[in-house]
Amino acid sequence: MNPWIAKAVVLAATAVMIAIRAPHGRRSRNVKVAKSHKTPLETGLLVLAWVGFFIPLIWLVSPALSFAEYPLRSGPLFAGVMCFVIGLWLFYWSHADLGANWSITLEVREQHRLITTGVYRRIRHPMYSALILYSVGQALVVPNWVAGPSNLIAFAVLLALRVRAEEQMMVQEFGDEYAAYTARTKRLVPRVW
Ligand code: SAH
Repeated sequence: MNPWIAKAVVLAATAVMIAIRAPHGRRSRNVKVAKSHKTPLETGLLVLAWVGFFIPLIWLVSPALSFAEYPLRSGPLFAGVMCFVIGLWLFYWSHADLGANWSITLEVREQHRLITTGVYRRIRHPMYSALILYSVGQALVVPNWVAGPSNLIAFAVLLALRVRAEEQMMVQEFGDEYAAYTARTKRLVPRVW
């Protein structure tokens, strides 16, 4: 198949992701941080996430990664588009449900509320599930060994090193309420993990 189809899909998915995030990013600048838990490790993880996000954009606009190209097939393309659609849907709803409590890093905002409803009802990290789905979509759609899995590798590392620290921060802040929420929910996949 023509690789330009993959380029069009990735461009559209990236635009939708940016459009979903942009208003929350703008608003979060005006919500005061009560407590920051941002460590040097967190800064490193954010840099890694940006690198993972940008590498597919390099593939999109330049031939620099053409050495790692392979042929595009319809099966992975279709499966990848499905992952993008579900991932972006979940990304939209997790942002909508989290509202002003969202931060790009580990922070507690002034008047922070614990959200346990909507897409947070059965899993504690729907936004990370969304980002993983999105990255799997990208790995399937981008026919390139470097640009395809870059986001997935970055998010897998981010999740492995952040989730525990985030949950510790939430227990410190919300105590028994978060412990009870943990007891009745899973992390990323309802009923599984
Ligand atoms: N891990 C969540 C949220 C990602 S954004 C998810 O994947 O959906 C990260 C910030 O969200 C954290 O710094 C924390 O302040 C906030 N947060 C995480 N879970 C929350 C919850 N259930 N209610 C309110 N804020 C939460």
